[in-house]
Amino acid sequence: MITEIGDAKASNREEHFVSFEWNRSEVLGLAKEGCSQCRGYGLRSTSRTAQPVPCNCVLRAIFRACHRKFRSCSHLDTQVSTARLESVHGREHKRAWGLKNEEFVADFVLVAKRTLNEADYRLFRYHFLLGADWKLCCQQLNVDRGTFFHLVYRIEERLGRVFRELQPYALFPLDEYFGGSARKLVDDLPDPERTGGNVIQMPDPARIAAKLAERAAKRATLRPPLRKAA
Ligand SMILES: [Zn+2]
Repeated sequence: MITEIGDAKASNREEHFVSFEWNRSEVLGLAKEGCSQCRGYGLRSTSRTAQPVPCNCVLRAIFRACHRKFRSCSHLDTQVSTARLESVHGREHKRAWGLKNEEFVADFVLVAKRTLNEADYRLFRYHFLLGADWKLCCQQLNVDRGTFFHLVYRIEERLGRVFRELQPYALFPLDEYFGGSARKLVDDLPDPERTGGNVIQMPDPARIAAKLAERAAKRATLRPPLRKAA
């Protein structure tokens, strides 16, 4: 089993470094304060990539946030769930009805199934979906405690990364998934010069100087009224 997982790890290594820009503001709130790898900054540099990569503590925090949400969504009574009208971002920018809680539960499971190999998904199903504790999992999977937690950490890291990097709709941040807010690329923002947006422009010094000169010329032409001497 370990060999199988190890092989899968080697074959999936390329997937780990996709072109996603992890910046400091993305990871700072998620990093573990006392982390020995990133010292609480969330990013760490490696010899394999020029860009800093997210620390494992950040990836695990992302997975755990998604898992908490998955549990709360799956424990909700089906009668409580309501359909919501949401806007679908894209070229056509449509609006569609959706059951967000159910969609999140399905996405969480399906993304895990697609990402993990058979052996890892088995552990994921027992521990994260069915809620089996480490003792039961070790018994069922025939692994020791150390190996079990090592595998759990690795699954959390892999899925945490995938949940954030997923395109076009990432599972994390949760508020964006559930339609609370949407990010916009700077390139997509309207150009104030083209659209005439309400951006305050700096005054042109040459225009100000011309206006002042015009005013001074006007003042020079005005003469005080002549008073008739009695
Ligand atoms: Zn860390």
